[in-house]
Amino acid sequence: MTTAFYTDERCFWHHGGNYALTMPVGGLVQPGGGLPESPETKRRLKNVMEVTGLMARLDTRSAAPATREDLGRVHDAGYLDAFKAMSDAGGGELGLRTPFGRDGYETAALSAGLATAALASVLRGEHRNAYALSRPPGHHALPDFPNGFCLINNIAVAIRAAQAHGLARRVAVIDWDVHHGNGTEAIFLRDPEVLTISVHQEWNYPTDTGGAMVRGEGRGHGYNVNLPLPPGAGHATYLELMERVILPLLRRFEPEAIVIACGFDAGAMDPLGRMLCTTETFRSMTGMVKAAAEELCQGRLVMVHEGGYSEVHVPFCGHAVIEELSGEPIRAPDPLGATLIARQPGPEAQAFFSSRISELAGLFL
Ligand code: ZN
Repeated sequence: MTTAFYTDERCFWHHGGNYALTMPVGGLVQPGGGLPESPETKRRLKNVMEVTGLMARLDTRSAAPATREDLGRVHDAGYLDAFKAMSDAGGGELGLRTPFGRDGYETAALSAGLATAALASVLRGEHRNAYALSRPPGHHALPDFPNGFCLINNIAVAIRAAQAHGLARRVAVIDWDVHHGNGTEAIFLRDPEVLTISVHQEWNYPTDTGGAMVRGEGRGHGYNVNLPLPPGAGHATYLELMERVILPLLRRFEPEAIVIACGFDAGAMDPLGRMLCTTETFRSMTGMVKAAAEELCQGRLVMVHEGGYSEVHVPFCGHAVIEELSGEPIRAPDPLGATLIARQPGPEAQAFFSSRISELAGLFL
């Protein structure tokens, strides 16, 4: 069985108006730059995979957009109606930092559809594992409020569809995007069948969510895990956190499938994060969750692209992840690799990060 790669050019056509980074253009803000969540951060990953030949080794597919029924399992009808109406009228803004243009609704539904098809295909045994390169991203999207470039919660729509079709009940989500997966947390907060784990830079975005004491509510208590890290954490800290906290939590939960909210903004080059991960960090983390999936759930692993705003570095990080996921021996060496490895935290800082991991392990294990 092969690795599936779900993507669609129309996802790269999603656009959000005239911005210079997150500032609306006007007054003293000179036009240019565009939103950090740009098509190029994602499209250049696909392009480098074409150039190296990695893409040709995968089963590359598109998918149907998520249906209104699919979206309605996660999002409020009032929000979906307003989103569709504004999208048809040319676009606008319904939340916080989520501008969209005409057909924004259709593109967001397609993005969720790619994630949904990726998960369904792995659960049906059609593919060994899968990567969905979709856009707009999803993990900040709340049931009734879009934020942080996220309009529809792609992973939540995929999981609820899989559950509705009887493909799986117990699913673990590991969100290693540098920002807190607040939307996914909110959607599954009371649900003991979906374990949500978010590792993120503390108090980055959103500035007021992601604390370790938010652990789920009601029957879902214990099934939401926030692992906030101080800025400056890098390769060794992320791998130590995986080994000491995340993998033991996965083993305890015994999922039927593992879904990764695969952001690359914990990378050292990212303009919206302050972490020091390298290409090798993402490769190693992928290897660890792949091994965990093989141990726990017949290798069922689905990765869904989230943030990551360095147009030049995300493609190398993503290529490394997909090399590892697929097991294909095709490499795209990171030109910044040696530089970033040389700039990791020193021993004193590392001891500080390890003490934070010990605190988190004490809390959750
Ligand atoms: Zn992010």
